[in-house]
Amino acid sequence: MVFSQRLQDSLSRKQRDDLYRTRASLESAQGPVVRLAGREYLNFCSNDYLGLAAHPRLIERFSAAARRHGVGSGASHLVCGHSALHEELEAALAAFTGRERAVLFSSGYMANIGVLTTLLQRGDCVFEDRLNHASLLDGGLFSGARFKRFAHNDVSDLQNKLERAAAPSVVVVDGVFSMDGDQAPVVELAQVCAAQNAWLMVDDAHGFGVFGEHGAGTLEQAGLGETDVPVLMATLGKALGTAGAFVAGPALLVDALIQSARNYIYTTASPPAVAAATLEALAILREEPGRRAHLHALIERFRQGAQQLQLPLMDSISPIQPLLVGEPGAALALSEKLRARGVLVGAIRPPTVPAGTARLRITLSAAHSAAQVDTLLDCLADCGQG
Ligand SMILES: *Cc1c(COP(=O)(O)O)cnc(C)c1O
Repeated sequence: MVFSQRLQDSLSRKQRDDLYRTRASLESAQGPVVRLAGREYLNFCSNDYLGLAAHPRLIERFSAAARRHGVGSGASHLVCGHSALHEELEAALAAFTGRERAVLFSSGYMANIGVLTTLLQRGDCVFEDRLNHASLLDGGLFSGARFKRFAHNDVSDLQNKLERAAAPSVVVVDGVFSMDGDQAPVVELAQVCAAQNAWLMVDDAHGFGVFGEHGAGTLEQAGLGETDVPVLMATLGKALGTAGAFVAGPALLVDALIQSARNYIYTTASPPAVAAATLEALAILREEPGRRAHLHALIERFRQGAQQLQLPLMDSISPIQPLLVGEPGAALALSEKLRARGVLVGAIRPPTVPAGTARLRITLSAAHSAAQVDTLLDCLADCGQG
């Protein structure tokens, strides 16, 4: 009784405050055009930044691996679920990111919890950017370390706080902030961390595959290695188009994760065919730098068009191009208007973003054409966002 009442109250509150979420059931593969309830929509809300989620080569490699290795992995990595394909992918990811060793996790959420609970103990300090992804905040809280937030991208605020901390410290940031699209000042952060003897961890879920000369992400773009940033985490379900995540860094760190991270040990390994498809995605990354170039050209095109329309663009050069709206009801209404015009854009509301900063989170993909980006701009102008 008490639980039913509590759940009902919480749901009613969400409905009243325009914070209730609904799920759209896709009837097609992920792509620039998706099908929903029998109608086709231009898709500007996926994280499939390179258009690989339904790429024929990934589908072929995935199918071939499933025929050979089956579907389920059958067990956790430490029992008998670790396949030769997982092993090959870990080696490929370590080489690609220029790090000693890498380990796969079934999801980015689990990887972040695993790293932070393994590294930190009671008495330590963890410093997190205020806008960090929920999984990083949860990992910091679960770790039992003293949890401190610093102002978004404010290196001097961090430095002041670090100087006052007389305990082993880990500093954690998103490489590219998932709801804002801006990047962390990783070079300055690495300098401050080195000076204060703190370890820096970067979650590059949205930078991996997108930034850097070879697409290895924010740290490649900034020219930072393992000594500057000991912990790199990135996900495979975004630009790489598959699923899961990895942590790359010193062999000592990776070994400790394999031995001690509870959400690595006590969970079934992801399907080996997913690892095979991810290897194919890495091959495409290497062979087709033009995909990244096209994506960055689209970002530039969108930003110029949006500027001409005087849209409330945020400061981002990543594929995440949010338009600030303010109140959740207004963001929802705008997203509905776009949907009526055949364009899908997600309305992001609290608690995902701070109160008063509800927004449309527009995301671009290398699979979009310039004409599709122009259509988006036309629709935004039509909707009175110009
Ligand atoms: C998506 C995301 C995650 C979670 O990754 P999953 O593999 O989807 O669980 C972690 N961190 C950031 C910054 C993300 O955007």
